[in-house]
Amino acid sequence: MQKRDYYQVLGVGRNASDGEIKKGYRHLALKYHPDRNPGDKQAEEQFKEAAEAYEVLRDPEKRQIYDQYGHEGLQVTGFHGFRGFKNIFSSFSDIFEDFFGGGLRARTRVQRGADLRYDLKISFLEAAFGRDMEIEIPRFETCAHCNGSGVEPGYEQEICQTCGGRGEVTRSQGFFRISTTCPDCHGAGQIIAHPCTACKGFGRVEETRRIKVKIPPGVSTGMRLKLRGEGESGLSGAPPGDLYVEISIEPHEFFERDEYDVICHIPISFVHAALGTTLEVPTLNGSENVSIARGTQPGDILRLQGKGIPRLRGRGRGDQIIIIDVRTPIDLTKRQKELLRDFARLEHENANENHHHWSFLGNKNRG
Ligand SMILES: [Zn+2]
Ligand SMILES: [Zn+2]
Repeated sequence: MQKRDYYQVLGVGRNASDGEIKKGYRHLALKYHPDRNPGDKQAEEQFKEAAEAYEVLRDPEKRQIYDQYGHEGLQVTGFHGFRGFKNIFSSFSDIFEDFFGGGLRARTRVQRGADLRYDLKISFLEAAFGRDMEIEIPRFETCAHCNGSGVEPGYEQEICQTCGGRGEVTRSQGFFRISTTCPDCHGAGQIIAHPCTACKGFGRVEETRRIKVKIPPGVSTGMRLKLRGEGESGLSGAPPGDLYVEISIEPHEFFERDEYDVICHIPISFVHAALGTTLEVPTLNGSENVSIARGTQPGDILRLQGKGIPRLRGRGRGDQIIIIDVRTPIDLTKRQKELLRDFARLEHENANENHHHWSFLGNKNRG
């Protein structure tokens, strides 16, 4: 890819003063900073491009080479552009130290805390009517002893001796020079010689927190509740992540759910199905008398309107759907068997009459 002119990148003239160059870079750095454009590759490229341009134009020697020989000139003298985030951030924090009057420490990386997920099992009725509950979350929180710096109070971070603060070390191997991330400071350029006694220099400590969760009525399995800012704390005072509570609902011994409808199966004897009856049926709000019509068939459905699950964020409720299971008796007494045989005989005669009718109709149709 063709490199753009550094002055053009920073939006300044070729005679720009140091102040103008700085100003141009600051503007771009703010605009394209990765923390402001998470996941945006183009912004990241623009941020790098601006950092590279600034890296050159801020340095009178490099600027002169660039003015005279352009990009090639810099390559010959060993400047290969931007070498990694550490450098970007070092020039970036230079700018901000000016900007904020030295309030920001060098190489402060703003990294939001991690999001957390918590799987919460709730009962069928808790899902139906909602509930305020407390959950226990083990999470990393900013260490109170060192305020997240990782440095024992009374001490300071020190420049890494191994890399001299550059964050990387260069070794020669024959003709090659190999740069690797500094093994002692892991690229930070600074080390903590006196780590915080509470967090061992980590800046955060794991603590189990009790957090209130408001479960709205009508939640269903797989739904996630977002608790903003209840995730892990960020490093170096960065904002915390979010906590996602993922709901799963325990099955009920009697009810099932179909979105906002509640389904149940009610067994009745074939006698009640034939003659009709009134039954006491459990609902989400206690039991209710339901009349079963004469001649009810297996699988017939009754609907109790508005007795289902409350709709999320909406008005009204689903229905309760009652599916009738007609049961055939198994252990019959002698007397019951006699009665059923009588019943069968009567039904047979009745059926024969019907049969007669049907054949009559059939004959008529044929004739
Ligand atoms: Zn180091
Ligand atoms: Zn600490």
